[in-house]
Order: sequence, then structure tokens, then C-alpha cells
Amino acid sequence: MLVGVPKEVKIHEYRVGLVPASVRELVAQGHQVLVEAGAGAGIGFPDEAYAAAGAEVVADAAAVFARADLVVKVKEPQPEEWRRLRLGQVLFTYLHLAPDPAQAQGLMESGCTAIAYETVTDPQGGLPLLAPMSEVAGRMAVQVGARCLEKEAGGAGILLSGVPGVPPARVAVLGGGVVGSNAARIAAGMRARVTVLDRSPRVLDALDREFGGAVATLFATTDSVEQAVLEADLVIGAVLVPGAAAPRLVTRGMVARMRPGSVLVDVAIDQGGCFETSRPTTHADPTYVVDGVVHYCVTNMPGAVARTSAVALNNATLPFTLQIAAKGFPHALAANPHLAQGLNVQAGRIVHPAVAHALGQPA
Ligand code: NAD
Repeated sequence: MLVGVPKEVKIHEYRVGLVPASVRELVAQGHQVLVEAGAGAGIGFPDEAYAAAGAEVVADAAAVFARADLVVKVKEPQPEEWRRLRLGQVLFTYLHLAPDPAQAQGLMESGCTAIAYETVTDPQGGLPLLAPMSEVAGRMAVQVGARCLEKEAGGAGILLSGVPGVPPARVAVLGGGVVGSNAARIAAGMRARVTVLDRSPRVLDALDREFGGAVATLFATTDSVEQAVLEADLVIGAVLVPGAAAPRLVTRGMVARMRPGSVLVDVAIDQGGCFETSRPTTHADPTYVVDGVVHYCVTNMPGAVARTSAVALNNATLPFTLQIAAKGFPHALAANPHLAQGLNVQAGRIVHPAVAHALGQPA
């Protein structure tokens, strides 16, 4: 199959659909790969690395879209990309179509077959192509939180780890799923005093077993959340209720009672955020202060560490990309029901029931 990789066009997006190592795997299995010049340049994958992996580097996106049977990307296609997609072509990328009727219309009109990373499933009921970005965001939340605790960033002037004779910072993590457990690992590794709160006894049990007591676990109630938040130097928001806006666990009143210079990192901001005082921010201007409490609410945290994120994403997507390339549509989806869950758009229709419902379309 001819697999195409355009350079991402969304502003400040440096990730790339296939890294050179993935190209090499595809080429080894007999496929041809076309890569737009400069596609990986922003994260240290120059055109020469793609050529060495066996790709044909082409001058522009038009050549990629014109020739490829399968287009592999990272972000949802932009209007100039919808217009290049065509009947029978397969698109494999993040789509997040439910809140985006304009993109849905563009993809339906293109006639392409669009498989969304975010709705591919795994046998445990998880979303394996979302998990790598949650791992990145969870780990990064501690890094940015530690930085925000520094005096010059508006923080209380506290070193996360403490030093001999001075206690470490207290970190409360709201939600112990993929983001929360990764945040807990890094915070505990940096010797902070960590408490994770969740509503799922299974999640609390798994964390308790993993950390052997080095991380405290609490069942999340209004009472326990309030107590943990008021005691914490750094609070990381990592809750998710699938298909719903994030629950507002921390009220403005609680924020007002936190110690000045405390820090909130709201990773759940892409679902509306779990602090009442949260509003989306960007990497260019990531923080603001409410009642003396520093808020970091960047909606696309993995973008800041685009190289790590691109490789992590490729590690998760490559097995599926190889299946699509080997069997083509619709055979690859018939052979793998979890990949089939990724199918969102086909021959001018939204075919994923939940996505169609959200868009008010017949599935
Ligand atoms: P997950 O499903 O793995 O974990 C969510 C956890 O929240 C679950 O363990 C669940 O039991 C818990 N939870 C739900 N309601 C709760 C409540 N009321 N009190 C306490 N715990 C509760 O999800 P995840 O992959 O860890 O993602 C968490 C959030 O981070 C999502 O909103 C996701 O979209 C977001 N995210 C943001 C970025 C970013 O760049 N800002 C990047 C990746 C993920």
C-alpha cells in the first residue's frame, strides 16, 4: 500500500504521523511511504532520516494527498486538507469529530474513510491511542507544577522534594487513571508527599498495591477532596467521566481558602476542567493567578514535548497502521473489532453511533 505522511498544518503542532522508525517497519513489510519535506524537522527527524528509513520525500502536501491510499496524521484535518481527501482514501488520525460539525461535513463531502485514533478500543475497554498522550500529560503535570511552585513563577517558593531537614511538598492528585497514576509516579519519584483521590475502589487498590504505601490513596468525597486540596501545595486535576464534562470537584470557595502560592494544574481542562476557577490557557501564556493560587490549564500539554509525544503516539498507532496497510479497508477492520471501533466516517456518512448521535446525524 502507498502510505502518505503530510506535515501537520495546525499552528504549533510539531508531532508527525509516522516517525522514521515507523516508516522503516512499513517499508520492511513491502509498503511504500511518501513523506512531505520537513514533516518531522521540528522534532529532530530531518528528511534525510526519512529517506534513510526508505521513504520517498516529496515537496508538498498536495503530492502526498494525491498519491497516498492511506494518509497518517496526528491532528484533525484542517479545511485545506479536507479538500484534498478523496473517495476511497483512508485517513488515520485524531479527529475529535463530536464537537466539530464543520470538520464532519468536510470529511463526509470528501468521500474518504476516516478512522479516528480516539475511538479505537482495546480488550480491557480502554482507549489505547489516547493513553500515550495521557501518560505524557500526567508526567508533565508534575514537571510544570514543580516549576510553578518556584517564587519567580508566582509560587510559594517550595522545592517539590524538600531537602534533608525540610519537608517535601504535598501533592494531591484528583483522579487516579492514566494521567493521575503517571503524575503520582513522577511526584513520588521526586520525593513529594503524594495523595491520590478517586471514586473507583479498583483504581485505589491498584495504586495501593503499586506504591506499597509510598503514595496515600483516598476515596473521593466532597469532604476528602476539600481536605486534601486545602493541605496541598500542588493539586493536579486528572478526573474523567467518559463522554461528559469534567466534574467540578474544587469550588471557587475552596481555591480562596488555599495557601497563597499553591498551584493547580488542571489536566482535565480539555473536558472543561475540574476546578471552578479553570479556564483554558496556551503554552505561550500557560498560567494565571486567582486568589493567590497559580493555575496552569494548557489544553494540549503533550505539544510542548512533541518529540516524546510523537514517538509515544507512534508506538501505539504503528500496529494498527501496519494492519490497515497490510489488509486495506474494509478487511483490516473486519479482522480487528477494536480497530473497527475507530471508524467514524465512511463514504459520505458518519458511521460511529456515538459520534453520529453527538452530531445529530443518522448513524
Ligand atoms: P482515565 O479515564 O484514565 O482516568 C480518569 C479517572 O477519574 C478515573 O480513574 C475515574 O475513576 C476518576 N474519576 C471520575 N470521576 C471522579 C470523581 N468525581 N472524583 C474522583 N475521581 C473521579 O482518564 P485519563 O486518561 O487519566 O484522562 C484524564 C483527563 O485528562 C481527561 O479529561 C483527558 O482528556 C485529559 N487529558 C488532558 C491533556 C491535556 O493536554 N490537557 C492530555 C491528555 C489527557
